[in-house]
Amino acid sequence: MKAWVILDRDGVINRDSADYIKSLAEWQPLPGSIEAIARLSGAGFQVAVATNQSGLGRGLIPAPQLAAMHAALTHLVREAGGEIAGIFYCPHEPAVGCPCRKPGIGLFEAIARRFAVDLKGQPAIGDSLRDLVAARRAGCRPLLVRTGNGRRTETELAQASDRDLAAVPVYEDLAAAAEALIGARP
Ligand SMILES: [Mg+2]
Ligand SMILES: [Zn+2]
Repeated sequence: MKAWVILDRDGVINRDSADYIKSLAEWQPLPGSIEAIARLSGAGFQVAVATNQSGLGRGLIPAPQLAAMHAALTHLVREAGGEIAGIFYCPHEPAVGCPCRKPGIGLFEAIARRFAVDLKGQPAIGDSLRDLVAARRAGCRPLLVRTGNGRRTETELAQASDRDLAAVPVYEDLAAAAEALIGARP
């Protein structure tokens, strides 16, 4: 069985902003993140991205800009010797109540369907509580990074009454999480 890893985008791969990442110019990879994805690929992981992009539904992010960001991400990872299998995003505003916006699991289900894979037990890396909750609901193994909202989320986890969430492993950034995953491969 192939190993998969599901990545959140904003705050994990690139810098996040409370004002949304609305253009290619605002899309700035975090230090080491592109190389980390390439290393995951090299170690045999299939990498997919699952990201909430409600700025689309709110009319704040032009669709061509989102496409440009994802083309840039795909290109940079390829240049670094890696591969992203797919980038799955939820374009809906929360008020729509769609099943794909995390903490919903629609994006995970879409990945599983597209690639005919079972994501049970596969790692999913995020910086926000909703990433971790979605991952767990989808049967994946959530990992937290301290980049983006990660430090705030770490505090939330420490206060969580939910034991499983409190036990989510925490890494400094995507590079550190990737190294841990690669090191744990049989
Ligand atoms: Mg995020
Ligand atoms: Zn959605």
